[in-house]
Amino acid sequence: MTNELTTIRKKLEKTLKEERYIHTLGVMYTAASMAMRHEQDIHQAMMAGLLHDCGKYCSVDEQIALCRKYHLPLTDAELEVPALIHARLGTYLAEHEYGIRDPEVLNAITYHTTGRPGMTAIEQIVYLADYIEPGRKQIPGLSEVRKVSFSDLNLAVCMTAEATLSFLKRAGRKVDPMTEKTYQYYKKKTQSHNK
Ligand code: FE
Ligand code: FE
Repeated sequence: MTNELTTIRKKLEKTLKEERYIHTLGVMYTAASMAMRHEQDIHQAMMAGLLHDCGKYCSVDEQIALCRKYHLPLTDAELEVPALIHARLGTYLAEHEYGIRDPEVLNAITYHTTGRPGMTAIEQIVYLADYIEPGRKQIPGLSEVRKVSFSDLNLAVCMTAEATLSFLKRAGRKVDPMTEKTYQYYKKKTQSHNK
């Protein structure tokens, strides 16, 4: 591991709750494996995986207060679905607290929860690694997404977005428009691809 990754990992070990830190390591190493398989930059994948939840070190109320303090604009969707806020705050912290300048890494942090249409491979890898890392509770369909994540990134993103949407709808939770857009985009992409 590079010095930069080690320094940031040690800092996060102190900031995050143990459970969150263990999840973080799971995402980092899963992202690294996926980068190997999909011939992507391993360091970028690990850095984005390591920092993806760095905005989750405090409560949602504190996350909102920090966003206000740093003048980070919050969309209506983010205020209605507070689980999204840590991605925006995390991107800011990655840049200003952890010194990350690579836009590819910063975008992967921004979109790790909702995805977005037309993601780069690194963005897809972090989005998927967050969902499939070994510490995740076994839910129906997870084994299949784990397998597909190592063969077809677009299809795996489509499956994950679909599962996320149906989970949110079943739980009666608010769905942010970006998750819906991600699903529609990757559904279309994988359908036209398979024809
Ligand atoms: Fe997250
Ligand atoms: Fe996460």
